[in-house]
Amino acid sequence: MKNFTYQKAESVDAAVNLIGQNAGAKFLGGGTNLVDLMRENIERLNTLVDVTHLPANIEETADGAIRIGAAMKNTALANHELIREKFPVLSQAILFGASGQIRNMATVGGNVLQRTRCYYFYDDTARCNKREPGAGCDAIDGFNRIHAVLGTSDACIATHPSDMCVALAALDARVLVQGANGNRAIAFNDFHRLPENTPHIETELQNGELITAIEIPPTDFAKNSLYRKVRDRASYAFAVVSVAAALDVENSAIKNVRIALGGVAHKPWRAFAAERVLQGLPATEANFQRGAEAELETARGFAHNRFKIELTKRMMVNVLKELVEE
Ligand SMILES: Cc1cc2nc3c(=O)[nH]c(=O)nc-3n(C[C@H](O)[C@H](O)[C@H](O)COP(=O)(O)OP(=O)(O)OC[C@H]3O[C@@H](n4cnc5c(N)ncnc54)[C@H](O)[C@@H]3O)c2cc1C
Ligand code: SF4
Repeated sequence: MKNFTYQKAESVDAAVNLIGQNAGAKFLGGGTNLVDLMRENIERLNTLVDVTHLPANIEETADGAIRIGAAMKNTALANHELIREKFPVLSQAILFGASGQIRNMATVGGNVLQRTRCYYFYDDTARCNKREPGAGCDAIDGFNRIHAVLGTSDACIATHPSDMCVALAALDARVLVQGANGNRAIAFNDFHRLPENTPHIETELQNGELITAIEIPPTDFAKNSLYRKVRDRASYAFAVVSVAAALDVENSAIKNVRIALGGVAHKPWRAFAAERVLQGLPATEANFQRGAEAELETARGFAHNRFKIELTKRMMVNVLKELVEE
């Protein structure tokens, strides 16, 4: 592990100033992903700016949105009364992730920016375009059971590992950031990128920009929402496939529906195609199946992960059926 300088930021402005344009510096949240990457020499940084003492509260804005401070711990967010009541899908998604100890350390900002769990990314003897642009990708013809089936490219088939982010994608959240050039808001569904031929560029965040908060707009029907995750162990395991959904049914027809998928793409995957198909149709199993088929139409499986395509469809149908029953 390379030696580095540790600095504690006492304010958002100080954090942004401390990191400046230093390409060898990064913000430090709970450290549950970043410190592992530094130990493995995948990240070779000269400076860490600790942002865990920045705003970590939840507040309701004048227009009824919920604003979550980026330094809030995952456990605190999942257990917060407002989140459990208004956005159960978010609370469930967080509690399905990692372990109690990790959730107690991990911050909201760090969760959003955690890196892929692709085995070859963590193995510095393997070829990986994300770690070393232009090197090649050992996952495409290698063991790719945990890899993506949607939005892949010839350069990278990694998945984004977060559970929390799948719920935030379904809830149309926004990422609030501050950098040397001021503040801006980025729609959650635009924040993470598909790999295309630059898999090392994972988000729309510019160098030195700090995530200050996540904002969720008011969505009444999100009270009727669910997160379901298939994983290899009952706890302490990343999603093989996961589904976050919220459903509003009026007179047996679908008035509003939101669906996002995890474990299937380089970013939390909003199922816009399924939502378009389902809008206004009777809330029946046959129609849920039509929506799932539409979403997975462009899916492409690899040697060890083709099962994810059928699994995702079945999970989508089952989650929507469960929401109707509720
Ligand atoms: C064994 C294990 C199992 C896990 N299982 C799951 C799971 O099932 N589901 C799941 O979703 N996650 C899982 N995780 C991942 C875990 O959720 C992440 O490690 C955690 O959320 C990262 O948060 P952190 O605060 O520790 O981030 P850090 O490790 O501190 O930082 C991660 C990245 O975010 C950047 N960063 C942090 N805060 C900010 C900010 N405010 N602005 C800009 N950049 C920032 C850092 O520079 C770094 O690049 C698991 C982790 C482990 C170790
Ligand atoms: S899938 Fe992406 S992260 Fe994994 S080895 Fe290939 S380029 Fe690297």
